[in-house]
Amino acid sequence: MTEKTTETQVVIAGAGPTGLMLACELRLAGVDVQVLEREAEPRTAESRAGGLHIRTLEILDQRGLLDRFLAHGRPRSGVHYAGLPLDLTDAPTRHPYLLFIMQSEVERLLAERAAETGAAIRRGTELQGFSQDETGVTAALADGSHVCAQYLVGCDGGRSTVRRLAGIGFPGTRATMTAMLGDVRLAEPPGRDIFQERRERGSFSVLPFGPDWYRVITNEFDHVADRDEPVTLEALAAVLRKIAGTDFGMHSPRWLSRHGDAARQAERYRDGRVLLAGDAAHIHFPAGGQGLNTGVQDAANLGWKLAAVVRRQAPDALLDTYQTERHPVAARVLQNTRAQTALWRVDEHTTALRETMTDLIEIDAVRRRLAGEITATDLRYPMGGTDDLLGRRMPDLDLDDGRLYELLHQARSILLDLIGLQALDTVAAGWGGRVDLIRVRPAEAASLGADAVLIRPDGHVAWLARTGAAPDLDALRTSLTTWLGPSDRIEQQAITVAHRTIR
Ligand SMILES: Cc1cc2nc3c(=O)[nH]c(=O)nc-3n(C[C@H](O)[C@H](O)[C@H](O)COP(=O)(O)OP(=O)(O)OC[C@H]3O[C@@H](n4cnc5c(N)ncnc54)[C@H](O)[C@@H]3O)c2cc1C
Repeated sequence: MTEKTTETQVVIAGAGPTGLMLACELRLAGVDVQVLEREAEPRTAESRAGGLHIRTLEILDQRGLLDRFLAHGRPRSGVHYAGLPLDLTDAPTRHPYLLFIMQSEVERLLAERAAETGAAIRRGTELQGFSQDETGVTAALADGSHVCAQYLVGCDGGRSTVRRLAGIGFPGTRATMTAMLGDVRLAEPPGRDIFQERRERGSFSVLPFGPDWYRVITNEFDHVADRDEPVTLEALAAVLRKIAGTDFGMHSPRWLSRHGDAARQAERYRDGRVLLAGDAAHIHFPAGGQGLNTGVQDAANLGWKLAAVVRRQAPDALLDTYQTERHPVAARVLQNTRAQTALWRVDEHTTALRETMTDLIEIDAVRRRLAGEITATDLRYPMGGTDDLLGRRMPDLDLDDGRLYELLHQARSILLDLIGLQALDTVAAGWGGRVDLIRVRPAEAASLGADAVLIRPDGHVAWLARTGAAPDLDALRTSLTTWLGPSDRIEQQAITVAHRTIR
């Protein structure tokens, strides 16, 4: 046992996708981070999540990371809502697809990036306790050592120790069914991909999951498994035979797992200097593949805010906007996964409801609405204004020497000037070290319908001046103060970072 104490600015419990993404975001802003991970080795055998959705792809693009992920994944032109296909090809994005990529690969790439940025990832290190006061938080580790930091973020999964020790409730609904899952080889594979075939005794899927590998999933609606029930190949094969009448000769599993449809959400995402993100803050059935995506998006929302507070640029109250913005998002994910699980049931009433949903999804507006929810492209954070672009993600405009998202690689705020508004110089100068004033030619501005836009580091629109309307500079100052903290000097001459032209 060692009594060693180390210091850092932010300590993160859990090196899953959420903790790793948060570490990358904090390091971009120059914040010292230690990531504590209980497991000694990465979870290479656990494929778990199989897809990155549009908003996650855009966030990776905004940080210049997307190419690494594209190189290890395969795009698919649609997603599913309770097994009903939702085409994405007309989605309003540069990336209208689901990127099929294993979670283990996502974690490997994020860990690689975190290490490049200088984050300390401490594997084989379990957080067992913590204490906090108004000056900081001290994490107690299993080996008897401690880490002192300004903030602790629990990214430690659905059974979060941090959440439990913080006394944060996790209300929600209990499991009503059991899903079993295996990545297996099949001696007698079906002649076609089977996506959620519904039969009298339950539903099942058989999908290719890598060369010669299949992912087999069974959903039993008349059984809620006990936690102690073993997860074995024999058990999965037996359930599949019960539902499908065959086990397709499954053998050689590389991963077996079981989960229910319990859906729970932390009642608050913050307790003083302790925050929660990812599965530690919300769990649900993996319908529509939203868990990992929501966690990575939590991290993208929290990272720059926490960095601004740690660097004493913004007041601690900025962290409360993390809960205001992200809690409703996960609440909606829980709602749609409950709806999807209900639609998978195999009784006659559900069959009638599915047929109605199948008809409704034929209507483009309905399909787009559901796709927008699953892919998180329809998010609009509350920003206090009525303009529809306010709070939404900024589209990735083409620039004469690149794209708008490239300007977000360093996770800094951008004040985009599309028509040469000189008044912006003096306003921006007040936050000179924290916002980049970037001028572009207005050729494409008409399609955006704005003369100027304030874009937060996470790519969301925080203020805008509509084309032709007088820019509300007081509202701009208020927005800059809200998101970046108080102005650091009297308005002087602005630093204009770049002149660009929209194609
Ligand atoms: C079968 C299945 C399929 C899924 N498919 C999808 C999908 O297609 N798309 C999608 O978006 N999501 C999917 N998910 C959900 C996704 O896997 C999770 O939402 C995601 O892993 C959450 O990431 P996280 O980083 O928040 O938590 P986790 O991945 O659970 O990571 C938590 C980490 O914290 C560590 N830890 C725990 N306690 C401690 C401690 N005390 N000290 C230190 N370390 C600790 C753990 O070892 C772990 O590494 C699926 C899940 C399952 C089960």
